[in-house]
Amino acid sequence: MGSRPDYDVVVVGGGPAGSTAACLLGEAGHRVALLEKRTYPRDKVCGGCLSQKSVRFLDRVFHLPVGALRREGLLDFTGTGYALYIGSSRILAEDLAEPVYFTRRERYDAYFAGMAARAGVEVQTGAEVTAIDHARRTVTTSDGDRYAARVLIGADGVHSRVRRSLPESIVDTERWRENLGWALELAIPRKEAETLMNGDGSIRLDADLATPHLVFAACRRGYGWVFPNREAIVVGIGGLLRMNEKCLPERFEEFLKTVGFSAFTDRKPVGFPLPLGNYIPSPAHEGTVLVGDAAGFASPLLGEGIFYAHRTAELAAHAVDRHLTSAAQLAGTYTALLRRRLIPELRAETALRNFLYGCLDARMQVPLAAFMRATSNRVVDAVQGSRSFRVFRRDDGLHSAVW
Ligand SMILES: Cc1cc2nc3c(=O)[nH]c(=O)nc-3n(C[C@H](O)[C@H](O)[C@H](O)COP(=O)(O)OP(=O)(O)OC[C@H]3O[C@@H](n4cnc5c(N)ncnc54)[C@H](O)[C@@H]3O)c2cc1C
Repeated sequence: MGSRPDYDVVVVGGGPAGSTAACLLGEAGHRVALLEKRTYPRDKVCGGCLSQKSVRFLDRVFHLPVGALRREGLLDFTGTGYALYIGSSRILAEDLAEPVYFTRRERYDAYFAGMAARAGVEVQTGAEVTAIDHARRTVTTSDGDRYAARVLIGADGVHSRVRRSLPESIVDTERWRENLGWALELAIPRKEAETLMNGDGSIRLDADLATPHLVFAACRRGYGWVFPNREAIVVGIGGLLRMNEKCLPERFEEFLKTVGFSAFTDRKPVGFPLPLGNYIPSPAHEGTVLVGDAAGFASPLLGEGIFYAHRTAELAAHAVDRHLTSAAQLAGTYTALLRRRLIPELRAETALRNFLYGCLDARMQVPLAAFMRATSNRVVDAVQGSRSFRVFRRDDGLHSAVW
């Protein structure tokens, strides 16, 4: 067992959330340790879709415009259009005014951990945090190393040990369970997908497998997706866990058949939880804050979480910096930033999601399809981050302001 010198900040978990928080605080001159239980490159079950709000974040915060992201090998595929279905009925097939991108998480996450290291952060891999003492503000790893810090950041994903160590008053476990999603995903090597895809399904994918497909009603209170990568086609299905608990594997098999991939029904998809609106409104307690999936921050409609991991980490880093440099109250500052910058959007997106799924439950597919066609441009803008989900007001600064 070793005792490590004191840090200003210890970040637990080196996904997009942890690396972003660590990097920004390292750049601000704080003494930071980032503890990641695995070693890079490591994969994460994920569709890897980056909306425009994500790429704009990377440009604004890390000075990585699209050209630089390409040069660094962080953009694997570009989606210039999309197709939207309810069940087997095609609602829309359109070009996108601005593309979405697909990344490979093993490369993406290793890159941002590297960036944190270049900002002076002590990045420890193979360092699994097994115990957290909030009163002493220390964490202990499975090797017995103990790290003490003025602030702890829990960025350890949806299963977060840091979250589970917080007092019950912080996490409304009922609300967490109500809105927790579960997903199954399978990456099919592109060559096999191209060769073995058949036209037997009721949804015909484009012949060159280049168009992202979203299929609502592929499961209850969720959707299915087919995301193109350069070397693979990622097929997934995800929805609220409480609605799909037993039937998701069956629905996944049906989904494979629906999109013409019946040749792959014997392959085992990977299952993983995903936040779908179960964000914790005040994810902070004394000297500890939670960011990203650890606090349930992801799109309630689509489960897009990479942007929210980066963005909550940016807001948290700002609050931590103010706490360390001018003794601003940590939990209060972070919670205020979330309430001002993120939570109103997530609430409005949850209302839209509940409306869509309410229509599906009531079998109002025809009016819902008409609604989706009429609002598609505005909803796409909101997902891309240039429009608010609140009455679809145009707002180019929506996801860039901190205060
Ligand atoms: C099937 C599926 C598809 C998805 N598709 C998309 C998509 O297309 N686009 C999108 O934007 N989002 C998508 N998401 C969501 C996205 O993957 C997450 O929201 C995102 O990874 C959250 O980042 P994070 O840094 O908070 O957590 P994570 O990426 O989960 O990182 C947490 C890190 O903490 C480490 N860790 C955990 N416990 C400990 C510990 N005790 N000690 C030390 N380290 C620890 C883990 O090893 C991991 O590296 C998808 C999710 C799923 C499940």
